Amino acid sequence: MVVLLKSNTDMAQREQLIQWLRGMNLDVHVTEGKLQTILGLVGDTSAIDIDLIQALDIVDTVKRIQEPYKKANRRFHPDPTVIQVGDMKAGGGNFAMIAGPCSVESEEQILSVAQSVKAAGATMLRGGAFKPRTSPYAFQGLHNRGIELLLEAKKVTGLPIVTEIMDLSQLPLFEEVDMIQVGARNMQNFTLLRELGKLNKPILLKRGLSSTIDELLMSAEYIMAGGNEEIILCERGIRTFETHTRNTLDLSAIPVLKELTHLPVVIDPSHSTGYARFVRPMSRAAAAAGADGLIIEVHNNPSAALCDGPQSLTPDAYKEVAGDVGRILEAMRV
Ligand code: PEP
Ligand code: MN
Repeated sequence: MVVLLKSNTDMAQREQLIQWLRGMNLDVHVTEGKLQTILGLVGDTSAIDIDLIQALDIVDTVKRIQEPYKKANRRFHPDPTVIQVGDMKAGGGNFAMIAGPCSVESEEQILSVAQSVKAAGATMLRGGAFKPRTSPYAFQGLHNRGIELLLEAKKVTGLPIVTEIMDLSQLPLFEEVDMIQVGARNMQNFTLLRELGKLNKPILLKRGLSSTIDELLMSAEYIMAGGNEEIILCERGIRTFETHTRNTLDLSAIPVLKELTHLPVVIDPSHSTGYARFVRPMSRAAAAAGADGLIIEVHNNPSAALCDGPQSLTPDAYKEVAGDVGRILEAMRV
């Protein structure tokens, strides 16, 4: 971190700042310029509140040289992290195909979807049991019964399962869940993230609706700081002024994240576009742009779905997408 002081700073104030920084276990290198003085800070600056320094009378500008996330940072962990659950592998050249309905609705529905996505090549089953709905009157999910049904579908198909946790009180129900999803709305629920950091279970962390890539990485850091380093990041579209899609899929997040972190990155073309017909082109694009997987909503009868029907693929349409993605990945290998 570099702190540029204003010209003609008061020496006593300057000395006070230097002593305070040294007290934070940092080496402070002072460079006297003709007009201004630069303080170069060496050491772990991740706990320093940059705004606090910026607000001091004697400070002109503060600049971080190193990102405040350590464990998620590719700089300190150049090899890609591979997350594996059963046959689902994401990262390091492995592509995860996660698919299933937005919400678990019934035994018949989840078994039917699970079997068809498995036949199409899915490696993990998704399905919401606790649903974060905008309206309190909309279907909220089957809760513990939903998780029971997912476990039943896992038994029948052998597919590992991922489902969303909305609140810490639900955690005991997630004992047998293979991967826990943190939804976009909870990306900055730091209490929840800290608790998930104590688990020995992979986390699918979705990017918040209005969160920057750095904020997503800081949320991953919250989980990793507690010891749980098994995280898959998910870009699921962000809020923009565009109205033709439900959100705007930030595909450039793939190469940006690849540069910044070693964690795998999957794309959700369902929530990002909001329309089933846009899922296929965006899935192709995500595979071509270097994503480590896709999480796609599939329903056996989208027009009757209790949640997110318009963006849900039929099993046949999913098969087409999976075929396309397989061919793109194959072409990229040669
Ligand atoms: C979901 O995956 O069903 C979901 C609610 O996603 P998001 O948190 O990205 O909106
Ligand atoms: Mn959904």
